[in-house]
Amino acid sequence: FDNRDGVIWMDGKFIPWNDANVHVLTHGLHYASCVFEGERAYDGEVFRLAEHTDRLIESARILGFELPFSAEEINAAHRELLQRMNFSDAYVRPVAWRGSEMMGVAARQNTIHVAIAAWQWPSYFDAAERMKGIRLDLAEWRRPDPRTIPSKAKASGLYMICTLSKHAAENKGYADAMMLDWRGYVAEATGANIFFVKEGALHTPLADCFLNGITRQTVIGLARKRGLTVHERHILPEELDGFEECFLTGSAAEVTPVSEIGPHRFVPGAITRQMVEDYAAATRPQRATAAA
Ligand code: PMP
Repeated sequence: FDNRDGVIWMDGKFIPWNDANVHVLTHGLHYASCVFEGERAYDGEVFRLAEHTDRLIESARILGFELPFSAEEINAAHRELLQRMNFSDAYVRPVAWRGSEMMGVAARQNTIHVAIAAWQWPSYFDAAERMKGIRLDLAEWRRPDPRTIPSKAKASGLYMICTLSKHAAENKGYADAMMLDWRGYVAEATGANIFFVKEGALHTPLADCFLNGITRQTVIGLARKRGLTVHERHILPEELDGFEECFLTGSAAEVTPVSEIGPHRFVPGAITRQMVEDYAAATRPQRATAAA
């Protein structure tokens, strides 16, 4: 990733990809004073860009810093970046962090840096492959109590246990891991929210100690538009055997069917397929309209 052609937007300027570096004494690197977003562009437009940018700004505020750019400036930088990279479909990664002026836990004076990079990262699966579902391990790490860490921020520090859980899962041959929360309720995967299907209704954990994903909110809206009932509630791991279908949602993962979680089996079915299709249509409104 650190040796490519193209440009990265950094602190208000487009610079060559290979020059977008930080100093080793960057506060964000040592103390996780860093927030980021994960977005996808479809047909030249970032899906739900305004929500992602607002969440980036809010995540920074939760960590006690203000971005030195307005939402409009960040959104304009996204558009120009996609044009300069000549990307129609891309993954986009904005990131903001405290710089390197002061070393130590306190670093109020440090410059706030912001960068946006984009690269081509096709959907994880083609349509047929996707419907087979992925296999999830049960993670040992739990999503923390919101009194332990500001869990509403999309902050780097929250990802340490995600990387640990994902590596442990991959070492055992799984694609990803499902994490419980600090109370023992089902929470989410390491970079995506989770949904279950039972008797024609959707069930998804209440997002009270992890990211209420933009994709999660989109899918809840799409499901309700289809007339499906969506229960946002606490879900116990003991309930997993009673669910028929399961899928993950996230900007990168989109809608990804799940076939296994540890010893539990699911068969991706009609409702999962409908959500995959509805999300694909929502992210590509021009094509959906053209086909109608
Ligand atoms: N949970 C975690 C831990 C994530 O990293 C993500 C991806 N940003 C999500 C949920 C899904 O969020 P979104 O739908 O906003 O991408």
